[in-house]
Amino acid sequence: MALDEGSGWRFRGEPRALEGVADGWHLRVVQPYRALKTYRCPGCEQEIFPRTLHLVVWPEGSPEQRRHWHRACWNRHFAELERAGERRRRRRSPGGG
Ligand SMILES: [Zn+2]
Repeated sequence: MALDEGSGWRFRGEPRALEGVADGWHLRVVQPYRALKTYRCPGCEQEIFPRTLHLVVWPEGSPEQRRHWHRACWNRHFAELERAGERRRRRRSPGGG
């Protein structure tokens, strides 16, 4: 299963795809009715309250490292990862800005 690589992972409105892979990360949407516990979001260090739609994210193949994220926090974190990756790739090309 391959989501559009490079464009990252985005939801528009109601998430249709509840699970997918983006750039080596496995993501799963936890719908409000399934979110029964309080979690700590590693993005903002705030609590994710029960009945809140959020994400569970783990490196592909390492589900024991899964973490619960606010959707917005993961999107921001993922954008930063992508930027860091681009910067790493860009170092090989001459010129730049
Ligand atoms: Zn958060």
